[in-house]
Amino acid sequence: MNVTTTQTVASALYDQLVIPGNIIVGYTENAWASYYAWMNNDFLATGLLFLVIHELVYFGRSAPWILLDHLPFFRKYKIQEAKIPSTAEQMECLKDVLIAHAFVEAIPIFGFQPICTFFDIDISANFPTLKMFALQITAFFFMEDTWHYWFHRALHYGPLYKYIHKQHHKYAAPFGLTAEYAHPIEVAVTGMGTVGSPLLYAYVFGQMHLVTIICWVVMRLFQAIDAHSGYDFPWSLRHFLPIWAGADHHDDHHKYFVGNYASSFRHWDYVLGTETPATARRHTFLKGSVEPEKKTA
Ligand SMILES: [Zn+2]
Ligand SMILES: [Zn+2]
Repeated sequence: MNVTTTQTVASALYDQLVIPGNIIVGYTENAWASYYAWMNNDFLATGLLFLVIHELVYFGRSAPWILLDHLPFFRKYKIQEAKIPSTAEQMECLKDVLIAHAFVEAIPIFGFQPICTFFDIDISANFPTLKMFALQITAFFFMEDTWHYWFHRALHYGPLYKYIHKQHHKYAAPFGLTAEYAHPIEVAVTGMGTVGSPLLYAYVFGQMHLVTIICWVVMRLFQAIDAHSGYDFPWSLRHFLPIWAGADHHDDHHKYFVGNYASSFRHWDYVLGTETPATARRHTFLKGSVEPEKKTA
């Protein structure tokens, strides 16, 4: 009896959640179908969509962090509070990232449609259910985090660090724009974790829609830019989800140059003993949220 009542309440709540969601999805599906029909060329349509979304999200999400660096009110949330990037540093990084986007990242991003065809990625206007979408995105976060942990750790090995990864460590106090400031080989290796996760999932389980991959890439960009922001707020996700790495975790990686290799989560570094000493001392993974030490060095 109780089970039936619970199920009824749960399904009523689910309906309330899903019906408005369905209306939004309906509009988006129509827009998606219209766009592909208007472009009349799947190769160009997918490439252009991916490229425009990537650029808009990367620079759109980085811009607020540039603004914050100029507002003294937010200084108390800066992790390395003595290290505010200068405008010249930000502009130099912006220029290098733009060049890398134009000459390195744009090529695989723009040529994504043949990859979709090869992996049988659905580009129809039939979007996945909310449940499938949530399941796949969660899987991608854990898959990418595992890939990133091992390859990032490998990139700290002698010659790999010297010739490839050193570029990303130019800024000991990172800021949003530095998320994709890296050697082209590193961009390819870490990008493989981001794009390869949904492709591997599609290869093994099938049922993959391009809209899920695009939303995942957007979330991964948010994660990477926020992790490099240099700011930790009382409302940052890691305070509510202790396994989430956030800026607190990755800032320490840039400050100490070794340790904290994972991207989204803390479990690999914790279990394998590769946390930076400062992160290990705080032990936010086990004890929940505590205020970070002020790191003014
Ligand atoms: Zn590193
Ligand atoms: Zn970094």
